Amino acid sequence: MPCPVPLCRTDNAYEATDCGGCGTPLFGYARLHAYPAFLFNQGLAAAREDRLPAARDCFAAVVHWCPGDTEARNALALACLRLGDPEEARRQWAEVLDRRPDDDKARRGLSLLGAGPPDRLPDPGTG
Ligand SMILES: [Zn+2]
Repeated sequence: MPCPVPLCRTDNAYEATDCGGCGTPLFGYARLHAYPAFLFNQGLAAAREDRLPAARDCFAAVVHWCPGDTEARNALALACLRLGDPEEARRQWAEVLDRRPDDDKARRGLSLLGAGPPDRLPDPGTG
């Protein structure tokens, strides 16, 4: 793995415990890197067991760590919807489409909500 220190970036063997270039301990960084995937799996397991609040919390944590993880964001939106929070679901799916406009799950999710674009234009009949 490359050294996480921006000015170093020495390429180290995956099993290296310290960076060969600057001596930064790498073990903690590797664990941090694997943690969101672990949380995501915890969330999936919780969702399968219908423990939806736990699932939502796991997915929300993953999204907090990795805002670009659209897979986790889709899962978070679905958990919110199933928990009776369509507004939060809509917000998350809109965020997915912001990053990946062709994302099928997010499109299906939003159509499930009967949603137009998130920022609706004012009613043209008034004013
Ligand atoms: Zn280094």
